[in-house]
Amino acid sequence: MTPDRADHRDLIAASFCQSLRPLLVLGGDGAIAAASEGAGWLLGWRAAELAGVRLEDLVVPADVLRNCRGDAPCGATGLLQVQMRTAPGDLVPVEIRCSRFEQGGSRHCLLFLTDLRQRGHEDELRAVRLAKLSLLNQVSEALYGAHLSLEQILQAVLICVTAGEGLRFNRAFLLLIDETQEVLRGELAIGPGDREEAWRIWSDLAGERADLFAMMTTYDRSVKQTDTAVNAIVARMGVPLAETTHLLVRTMATRQAVRAGLSTPGPGVEAVLGWLGCAEFAVAPLTTRSGPLGVIIADNAFSRTPISDLDLEFLQMFANQSAAAIENSRLYGELERRLIDLRKAHQKQREDQETLMRMERLSVMGETSAVVAHELRNPLVAIGGFARALVRSMGQDDPNRQFAAIITEEVARMERIIHDLLDFIRPLKQTRETVVVDDLVRETVGRYLKRLEEKAISLDWDLGSGGAAVRCHPGEIQQVLENYLVNAMQAAGDGGFVTVATRALEGGVRVSVADNGPGFAPDLADKLFSPFFSTKPTGSGLGLTICAQIVKSHGGVTEAVNRPGGGAEFAFILPLPKDDEEAGPGAGVTTGNGL
Ligand code: ADP
Repeated sequence: MTPDRADHRDLIAASFCQSLRPLLVLGGDGAIAAASEGAGWLLGWRAAELAGVRLEDLVVPADVLRNCRGDAPCGATGLLQVQMRTAPGDLVPVEIRCSRFEQGGSRHCLLFLTDLRQRGHEDELRAVRLAKLSLLNQVSEALYGAHLSLEQILQAVLICVTAGEGLRFNRAFLLLIDETQEVLRGELAIGPGDREEAWRIWSDLAGERADLFAMMTTYDRSVKQTDTAVNAIVARMGVPLAETTHLLVRTMATRQAVRAGLSTPGPGVEAVLGWLGCAEFAVAPLTTRSGPLGVIIADNAFSRTPISDLDLEFLQMFANQSAAAIENSRLYGELERRLIDLRKAHQKQREDQETLMRMERLSVMGETSAVVAHELRNPLVAIGGFARALVRSMGQDDPNRQFAAIITEEVARMERIIHDLLDFIRPLKQTRETVVVDDLVRETVGRYLKRLEEKAISLDWDLGSGGAAVRCHPGEIQQVLENYLVNAMQAAGDGGFVTVATRALEGGVRVSVADNGPGFAPDLADKLFSPFFSTKPTGSGLGLTICAQIVKSHGGVTEAVNRPGGGAEFAFILPLPKDDEEAGPGAGVTTGNGL
């Protein structure tokens, strides 16, 4: 043997002895020739003391390896599971694998020992991993497949972080970047308020199946009512994104879940510990391809279980799934909103088209009505004239006199309708003058003083617009006022009461005519300004429609209200001229005189 090879042997022997793996070398006589450091640990001996011990003295049942000797095959193949006696006398479950080798002409058997208790722990870990992975899979399927609202998704995410079958954290907090894109803000939280609640919920959750929907139901049943404390905490959570060194903001930038606590001080850590009131927490970023969405913070505030690497690993995996689901749901929501907008736009377009067609038809009808009204006016005047002459010529006791009188009244009514109809059809004037409103009102109402007096209607003036002027067609506005006034006089009746008032508003002037008549039925309020709506036996129902048209063409609005003390008030508001329009009293103003 060359010195080189001898050196190698020494090296191998030394490595064997120092190995932490439990290894034994069996000599030709069935006694242990050498034992590794790991075998010593496993069996509670010092490794060197194991040399010379017979293997069968250590193995239970002893006969399993009775014939196992270095120089002869024991017949055992593959893996053997036995119990091995330790120095203190305990029995340890061990799995043994034999491997033969030759050295310097003699045969040996190398035994690899595996502590089955250790394997049990590893199996447990593997089982936990598997369960969590399966849950993750379920959750992602559920989040994508089911049509959950964004709120339900957020809730499901936090449930999985805390549920017994999920990641098993005590509490979970969700923070999302708000719509200003400037602040990471607390959104939702799940978890018990104190230790007692925690115990109650955990025992409730124990044995629940790892099914997302089952967990959500359990959540609704057991947790929802109790998470006021955590929601109070989450409401306080907020970090400006400009604080780039803050742990939460940094976590989103590094895209890596971290564990932090009293032992890892740094920017933001204290603030989070302050919110949570515990010693340790985990943060996982919610990030998507289009950027960060927020973070999940989880802690074990009540059980005080340390957060393991495995917990962190799963929290991160889970956060990735959740982020994708959240973004998906947001995109879906956005899509839905756009679809609704599109439908609305489509509907509006259809309505506009219909309005246009209706307007075209109305315009044709308007022209036709104008021609018909004109044609009817002259014969009506003639019929009315003759009917009145007939009435006058008949004696009081003439039996036909009442029929002739009816003809007169009905013709008068038809004349009124034709007059209003022509008014309604006539295009509105586009010319505008600057007019002092109070003057215009005084002038217009002044013309009715005699009629008011005849009907013994008291008139109250309350002109308080302070000389405000508007741009208008004075004749048209006068027509509106007259219409209001005539209606008010009819409503007030003989001996009634009418008030005409003006007021300066911000940006406009309000003119109103109120009476102490019966007012109108509230359910008719919408119809008063509609064409041909009338509650009067001889009304055309066009007066208020014309008023509304005129006021609208002046950029104003009309109003009709019942007064609390009885009677109605009809008003219109005209806008004050804009800065670039001729404005205010004095600047080319037309007063009411000479309208
Ligand atoms: P007409 O006077 O020909 O009926 P209008 O368009 O002027 O047509 O009025 C429509 C309806 O509005 C009236 O028939 C009446 O029912 C209601 N109305 C108008 N003014 C008053 C008022 N001052 N008080 C109560 N109802 C009113």
